[in-house]
Amino acid sequence: MTDDRGVPQATGPSGLTPVPEHQARIATLLPPARAESRPLADCLDLALAEDLVAAIPLPPFDNSAMDGYAVRSVDVAEAGPDDPVTLPVSEDVPAGRIDSPPLQPGTAHRIMTGAQMPAGADAVVPVERTDAGTSEVRLHASVQPGAHLRRAGEDVQVGTAVLHAGVSLGPAQLGIAAAVGAARLPVRRPVRVLVLSTGSELVEPGSPLRAGQIYESNGLMLAAAVREAGGEAQLLRFVPDDVESFHAALQPHLETTDLILTSGGVSAGAYEVVKDALAGNGVEFTKVAMQPGMPQGCGRYRDGPAVVTLPGNPVSSMVSFEIFVRPALRSAAGHHRNQRPTRQAVLTEPLEKTSAGRRQYRRAVFDPATATVTPHGGPGSHLLSAMAGANSLLEVPEETTSLPAGATVDVILME
Ligand code: AMP
Ligand code: MG
Repeated sequence: MTDDRGVPQATGPSGLTPVPEHQARIATLLPPARAESRPLADCLDLALAEDLVAAIPLPPFDNSAMDGYAVRSVDVAEAGPDDPVTLPVSEDVPAGRIDSPPLQPGTAHRIMTGAQMPAGADAVVPVERTDAGTSEVRLHASVQPGAHLRRAGEDVQVGTAVLHAGVSLGPAQLGIAAAVGAARLPVRRPVRVLVLSTGSELVEPGSPLRAGQIYESNGLMLAAAVREAGGEAQLLRFVPDDVESFHAALQPHLETTDLILTSGGVSAGAYEVVKDALAGNGVEFTKVAMQPGMPQGCGRYRDGPAVVTLPGNPVSSMVSFEIFVRPALRSAAGHHRNQRPTRQAVLTEPLEKTSAGRRQYRRAVFDPATATVTPHGGPGSHLLSAMAGANSLLEVPEETTSLPAGATVDVILME
């Protein structure tokens, strides 16, 4: 089957490309990004490219878990609230003291949290259970051997993989990397995405609007979505519906772009600039069994960067990005967790679907407290304000035409 421009069309049972098939095509367009070494401070939200194996134990040495007194537990066995044991204090051991004089029997070392335990001591009496003396100390509590100390290797043993390849590096992951002494990490480069909107009706926000014009919103929205997904976005804003301007806008960026992401100009009307420019230049256009977001295209621009052409209606653009582009971008950037979290939820009101044979993604509000979901705004793909008030996408399967209140549905969480 071909479309009206002679472009081959993949077909499902309905003559439309199934959603998973178009997802797979886009995923194969974006190969894994190359790995590079970056300083820890520049790794936030990137994916680790190789396992990080600990070269030191954590803690690196036995140390005190409390401010108090390092003792031999046998020396304070008789101590109680009203019967203190008094010991001479022979050393003061703040955190960071690197020599470690051993503890002589019948004495105590004043010790701070994180300071090395002296050889010979087997427990710490917290300062709160003492008179806090500095030359001698009255200890009002006995302690079990091992009390209030942290053993070397209790958290991490040498040779353990503390982080695995494919993990997304958030604050806690960067914390453990620093704790085992890593100054740099091998990470996958973020995918470089060029975002370009098309439409002669578009005007930059901030300029006056004339009749027939609208403010351009897809560019900013998609660039933000790329960044939120962990990609590097370059926003070209927009070009008019003119094939020459479209090609000219791309030229300076071809060497530094992994993915060209366009919006608009791919449906069935005249002046479909993206279709006109890219059919015959490596991009195939197709109709996907989805609502919103039926007209889609993808390929490689003149054997160069990958291309994904999203529809122009803002909601179609955003939903298509979520369903097709975001998972592929995250996989290419090495993130094992490339999907949004999903939940099953109970529908609070009945729902009708007119687009039979197409999978529908309705903007919705998911309530985690009750595990319910409520459609937010209608199915129209121009209803951007409803999208801005939603926190999820409610998935209505291809074959379903209506759902009663109380039905269990799948929900994709967007935040
Ligand atoms: P198109 O696919 O180019 O026919 O566009 C479909 C609808 O989306 C039209 O109403 C366009 O005005 C609108 N649209 C296309 N691109 C944008 C954009 N970048 N920002 C806002 N609306 C757009
Ligand atoms: Mg257009």
